[in-house]
Amino acid sequence: MNRIEDDKGYFYKFNGSERKGVRYLTCYQQFCKGSASIRQNGYIVSGKDHSPNCSPNNADDERLNEKI
Ligand SMILES: [Zn+2]
Repeated sequence: MNRIEDDKGYFYKFNGSERKGVRYLTCYQQFCKGSASIRQNGYIVSGKDHSPNCSPNNADDERLNEKI
């Protein structure tokens, strides 16, 4: 499954909606209500705030990059 990371280190997945070329994302953590969208130019725009206990993955960046 595709995972999209924004510049803050949060992961998202597509929620299936698309409107006028903008694709909508929800936080990869199921408990979290965070959301974002991707514009046609690939720019990720933040939507709803993430839950307080949803942490970005900046601390794991090096490890994740190795995996990808
Ligand atoms: Zn989140």
